This record gives sequence, structure tokens and C-alpha cells, in this order.
Amino acid sequence: MASPPVLFSAVGLSPKDRQAIIVEAPTVRNKVTHLLKDGLTGFMQSLILNHHHTKEPFYVLDLGVVDNLMDNWTRFLPMIRPFYAVKCNSDPALLAAMATLDMGFDCASQAEIESILALGVSPGLIIFANPCKLDSHIRYAASVRVNLTTFDSGTEVEKIREFHPKCSLLIRIKPPDDGGSMWPLDSKFGALPEEVEPLLQAAKAAQLPVIGVSFHIGSRAACSRAYAVAIEAAKKVFEAAAQLGMPPMRTYFPDTTGMSIIAEPGRFFVESAFTLAANIIGKRVRGELREYWINDGVYGSLMCSALFEPKNLTCRPLGCNSNRENPTCEGALTYSSTVFGPTLDALDTVMKGHGLPDLEVNDWLVFPNMGAYSSALRSNFNGFNTSAFSTYLTYSNPS
Ligand SMILES: *Cc1c(COP(=O)(O)O)cnc(C)c1O
Repeated sequence: MASPPVLFSAVGLSPKDRQAIIVEAPTVRNKVTHLLKDGLTGFMQSLILNHHHTKEPFYVLDLGVVDNLMDNWTRFLPMIRPFYAVKCNSDPALLAAMATLDMGFDCASQAEIESILALGVSPGLIIFANPCKLDSHIRYAASVRVNLTTFDSGTEVEKIREFHPKCSLLIRIKPPDDGGSMWPLDSKFGALPEEVEPLLQAAKAAQLPVIGVSFHIGSRAACSRAYAVAIEAAKKVFEAAAQLGMPPMRTYFPDTTGMSIIAEPGRFFVESAFTLAANIIGKRVRGELREYWINDGVYGSLMCSALFEPKNLTCRPLGCNSNRENPTCEGALTYSSTVFGPTLDALDTVMKGHGLPDLEVNDWLVFPNMGAYSSALRSNFNGFNTSAFSTYLTYSNPS
């Protein structure tokens, strides 16, 4: 197995160099508007007034935010190579920008692997991090030499032995503590402590090298101690493998510490980089209450935020139609407002009791921090084609 390099190439690059590389990425080149830190609202206004006759919802992706997060990552965790979890947001410009900085990628399906290979990324920088894969996807991974995957069951070992006998494995373990995650994953994935030994033996019998351990605490974990206990549990797996007489997992990692550490961040790199703008398509006044319909919703890109994280969901008005002099509606009286999505399902309610000024049809609502598990979950329910949103690219400089 080609062992992942210890440091990836973004490490040590100056902010200027990284910015230059990012804005020249394929599918990014010539599409980036450079902004000052506070320039987003003005930029969105100009999009709406000058280019956005269709009134379709749209995203703004600030590549400067992604870059800044990468810079923080490489400064504080230079030995841990990030493998971005593609499922979190698979925007092509985002992926292309990340690929230019030699990021690794965590893919869960054939289509995700295809989209990353199409960017020219080496198969050695892809981990097929789905513990239960389709036969056909495993065969595909073998054909394109994506040679690292996770497993947590005996049937998976059998499938990999049959369809991809050259694959190296990471055993996915259930973390002892989910750290108060908003999206725990441990009910579905991860070997229990008593399952580890039989699984290691099954892999050994199948002549598949188990070269390490993986775990996922769960998305939006609140407590860092969960990582400490999970790493402790991973250590026990290394010891169990040694006791079974399996080759030490770390011989596959020739760097000086004897261990290669990767991480699979999704939300971290994208959540704050995307801002969504949706158009107000309807309004109802009931006494003091204002009710608005917008053209994105729970069956569009707002499912996660609206249904599962309503406390983190916020929006601000852009009164481009009713209040051109003061589109951000500063100082305007606010009313308790409900925001509905466009479909006929009452579940398609984006927010309730949110303070908004008195807006009109064809004004806009702007939702910040919309990069994680948003556009990735869109459906065409009720015939609303939410898959055609535009994404505009910016690079804002923090100073
Ligand atoms: C979804 C997923 C991730 C990313 O999780 P975030 O909470 O978005 O960082 C990483 N690894 C695996 C295996 C996943 O399924």
C-alpha cells in the first residue's frame, strides 16, 4: 500500500500562495469575486439586482473561509492529514479548490469516488470510508486502485476478499462515548469491543491487511473527551492485533513516529463557507404574526437545519424589493415570523417565531452557515426542482 505522505502540500504555503492556487483551480478559475470581509451583503444585493432575474435560490461559497480553515488546520494539526468527507457538500468548485491543496477525500460510494478522481486526485488520497459497501462499488474501487477502506462486519470482509483482494483495511470501532453528538453514528457503525478480535481474525484468514483503526464520534460532537477515550480504545485494537500475531499495523506507515494519523472532517471545512439566499414567494398577515413562503425549504437544502438544528438556524432580511434604500432593514420594527418552504407538506416549515421586519413578496432571506448537509440532501419532492441552484464564488480576505 502507498502510505499517505505525512505532511500534505498545503502545509507551509503562505496565505498568498494558497489563495493563488485556489483561485486557479479548474472550475474555479475566472469565477471568483474578491471581496473585503464585510462585502457579502453588498455582493448578494448586486447579484439579485443585476443578474438574478429568475429569483431562484442561490448560494455564495466563500473560498477564503475554506482556505482560512485549512490554514488553521495545517498550523495546529500539521501531522494529521484531512480527508474531506465528500457527503457533507459535494459542490464541484469546492472539491476542485480542495484538491489543488492536496487534500485527501473520504468517499462513501462509486459516484463520490468518480467525482474526486475526475479532479485528477491520486487514488492513494481517497479512503472508501463506508463500512458497508455495494459489491459493484467495491469492484469499481478495485478497478481504479482505491485501496483503503473501512469495515465492521464479517460479511464485509468476505465481500472485500472476493471483489478487492488487494485492499487494505481499517477496522471501524464504536467509540465508547458519543461526546453528546447531535448526530451520533454509533448505533449503525462500529465494531463492539468483543467483536474486534473475531473481525481481525476474519481479515487475517482472508489475507487482507488491517493497517489501522477508524472511528467517528458523531457529527457536531460537544465534548472533546470523547476523542481521548476513542483513541484509547483504538490503542487496545492495536494491542489485540499484536497478540493475534498479526503484523504490527504501523509497519505500513514508515514515518518516524511509527504512526500515520488521518481525519475525516466534513462540517468543519464547509459549514461557515456557504451562505444561502432564498426568495420570498408568498406572505400572509395574521394580526401581529407574519408568515412567509420562500422557494427553498425542508425538501430543498434546509432539511438538516430546520428539522434537527433549529436553534442554530438563523436568517437575515434582504429587502431588495420593498426597501431598496435600506435593504438590510436596519432599525426596522420586527415581527414574530414563520417561514415556510414551497411544498404542500406542513413539515416543510423552515423556522417559527423568528424576528423579521415586515417584508414583501420578492424580498429575500439570507441564511448564513449553510454549507454542511444542506444542498447534499435536496430532493425533488412535489416537483420543486431544487437541484439547479447557482453557486457564486467569492474569496474574502479577512483583513
Ligand atoms: C459523515 C462522516 C464524516 C464527516 O462528519 P462531520 O461531522 O461532517 O465532520 C467523517 N467520516 C465518516 C466515516 C462519515 O460518515
